[in-house]
Amino acid sequence: MTKPEILPDLVPMDVAGRTERVRVSAGESQCDALLVTNLVNVRYLTGFTGSAGLVWLGPNELVLITDRRYAEQSESESSQASVDVRIEITNDAPKEILAAAATGVGRIGLEAASVSWADQRKYAEWFEAAELVPTAGVVERCRQIKDDGEIDRMAKAAAIADAALAEVRPMLADGHTEQEVALALDTAFRRLGAEKSAFTTIVAGGPNAALPHIRPTDRPIGPNELVIMDMGAVVDGYRSDMTRTVSVGEPDPEAQRVFETVREAQQLGVEQVAPGAPISDVDKACRTRIDAAGWADAFVHGTGHGVGLDIHEQPWVRATATEPLEVGQVITVEPGVYLPGFCGARVEDTVVVTDSGPRRLTHSPKTLAVS
Ligand code: ZN
Ligand code: ZN
Repeated sequence: MTKPEILPDLVPMDVAGRTERVRVSAGESQCDALLVTNLVNVRYLTGFTGSAGLVWLGPNELVLITDRRYAEQSESESSQASVDVRIEITNDAPKEILAAAATGVGRIGLEAASVSWADQRKYAEWFEAAELVPTAGVVERCRQIKDDGEIDRMAKAAAIADAALAEVRPMLADGHTEQEVALALDTAFRRLGAEKSAFTTIVAGGPNAALPHIRPTDRPIGPNELVIMDMGAVVDGYRSDMTRTVSVGEPDPEAQRVFETVREAQQLGVEQVAPGAPISDVDKACRTRIDAAGWADAFVHGTGHGVGLDIHEQPWVRATATEPLEVGQVITVEPGVYLPGFCGARVEDTVVVTDSGPRRLTHSPKTLAVS
């Protein structure tokens, strides 16, 4: 749901149009109906942001089932999103509601990644006349292609992160700890209008920067060391993702070479972002540059991922992803080099695939100097 009082100028999203697109996607997976239990997917289809609920996407109707805590919220969020959905409120197991909705339906898709073994057995009992089909990515396939409203929210989240980093960057020179700097970023996100941080903000200096997903520690940021800062904000559910590597003073020449290699690799990767280009080209461009510098084994993670309602979602940017990039996808490009015990560098932007090439949403400067 939009929050007009905080963000008055957000481009509207076409939430209502998602029902039919997901129905088509379910059909491609040979399902006549889909039981949506992943709460992010529930939100995607209905606008409902509550912590409990599921959606029945039948051949002719969309039904949101939630409990009495959410009676009012489910009505107001789905009507703000202009979604044609029947809402059922119950504090009991919705066996009768679902069995009635499923009358005459042959094949019902379950979201394999979000249905537990116990739930699967329960649904088999509830839908005894139907065939249950495990599915993967039926809704997620649709979520990959963002409309203008979704991109607008991500652009705002990215702009908030840019502003927060500009504000906090000078703090690094004052001997603060990683945790203090991370907290300052998180606080700035909220003050600037974000709902929250998109994930646990990473601030990692010196040898800690060699650990790609370390959490901020109480180690003070020192002079002449590389500091990795990986951050994102959330606006109306949509996330941004950006990493910058900075240094207070001049790092040693080898660390500088690590940084410059990563910065160049990232630029080369972003340049490959174009509709129709294999996703793997982005990965290849980054890896080729890092390999040439002799650090192939020090680039220990994937090159990027889709971003949206989840921080990590389809598509994955890696060597095996040979499918073409499509207009409306939003991905990260984030090569890194990590030399244990010494230093690490990563540079990451959130990038939209457009007809005219890559559109970066994250704009913070990629200079090492903190101020
Ligand atoms: Zn990141
Ligand atoms: Zn990322």
